[in-house]
Amino acid sequence: MMLWSGLSFLPDADVVGFALGVAYGDPWGHRGATHSIAFSVGLGVSIGLFGAVARWPVVRTAVTASLVLVSHALLDTLTDGGLGCALLWPFDLTRYFAPWQLIPVAPIGPWFFSARGMQVALTEIMLFAPLLLYALWPRTRRI
Ligand SMILES: [Zn+2]
Repeated sequence: MMLWSGLSFLPDADVVGFALGVAYGDPWGHRGATHSIAFSVGLGVSIGLFGAVARWPVVRTAVTASLVLVSHALLDTLTDGGLGCALLWPFDLTRYFAPWQLIPVAPIGPWFFSARGMQVALTEIMLFAPLLLYALWPRTRRI
């Protein structure tokens, strides 16, 4: 669960581009290529193949990794800030938003630890509390 959670953050590694002079709206800018379906599936398949070394089920690992990555981009389209996500990169550089922006956008970098960042984090915890509760709910194994 910790690996999948960590993987879900990977698309936002593109914020490193700010320090390297990559503009927000560039194809490799924030919420650009790393927030596309093609990137998610490509990296997901790579993780599935790499997982074969560890004897993980290749297809299930690839599909799960792809879904984890694409869910990040789709959830980002529900936020109320930024330029949207380049879901169809490299075929189309249009940045997309979902029809509804239900999630406040989190401040980037050290500003995440501001009062506004904490407000956004609390909002996200409240929005996703049912899923978190479901994930952590104790289960019994069927034999
Ligand atoms: Zn993101």
